Amino acid sequence: MRLRFWGTRGSCPSPGPSTNRYGGNTTCLEVRTDDDDLLIFDAGTGIRELGLALIRGADGSPIRGEIFFSHAHWDHIQGLPFFTPAFQHGNDFTLWGSPTLFGSLGVVLRQQMSPVVFPVGFDALRARLEVRALEGQRRSGSGYDVRTIDVRHPGGALGFRVSAAGQPGRSFVFIPDNELDPSFDERDGQPRPASREALVEFARGAQVLIHDAMYTGTEYMEHRGWGHSSYRDAIEFALAADVQTLVLFHHEPDREDTALDSMLQLCHEMVAERGGSLEIVAAAEGMEIGI
Ligand SMILES: [Zn+2]
Ligand SMILES: [Zn+2]
Repeated sequence: MRLRFWGTRGSCPSPGPSTNRYGGNTTCLEVRTDDDDLLIFDAGTGIRELGLALIRGADGSPIRGEIFFSHAHWDHIQGLPFFTPAFQHGNDFTLWGSPTLFGSLGVVLRQQMSPVVFPVGFDALRARLEVRALEGQRRSGSGYDVRTIDVRHPGGALGFRVSAAGQPGRSFVFIPDNELDPSFDERDGQPRPASREALVEFARGAQVLIHDAMYTGTEYMEHRGWGHSSYRDAIEFALAADVQTLVLFHHEPDREDTALDSMLQLCHEMVAERGGSLEIVAAAEGMEIGI
């Protein structure tokens, strides 16, 4: 499998010279399976450039793919109206959401293209777009297997584990928005997140864990209950789950490249103190990982 990051930023796009290296586009991850199936995780603004690349690569042939939504917050859906392949007749995309968010996902994707907020309606998308729920929290294709888990995030969100078919060790975990610290009061009426133990088991032994590491410790204390994690909590989780590589993800919009470099350095020092072999990188637009 091959992973490519098209959007690494959380919450709000933050383009500009100070965020050039890690990127300013919001969440979008492209995955190519062993059979070259196209899986896309989230449709933040990064999906716009992915769409242009897909069209260049297809050279007129139909484009098919599956788009998995962790949840329907703006930074995970706002690129879809700019995903050019969705406007082209003959292309085919299945949009997957959790059963609990399924009803709202279809509604929200339409509403973000309603005339009050957007000039072009959802029905202008000429590709075949089918919104479906991940029944049984699982989707298996010819060469891959996707499992999901409910994580802690306002309104509910999914984490994903993607494995090469029949090779559970060749896998990565993608949890873009998740508050690992369980100590804040959960709001009523939300999907119950998995326990810490279940989450660790879900990620156990993955080659790559891509996880929300939005905050420093100080920032986290000011944003408890907002649904995101500190880099320290992400590292503790990665160590507990015994993954090989942690990819810091969902960067805070105000975090400049140099500040992210410093955060990464602190992460390396923390792992060195613990004596672990965990590798840590920060997600950057254009970065590719092979699994
Ligand atoms: Zn987000
Ligand atoms: Zn969110």
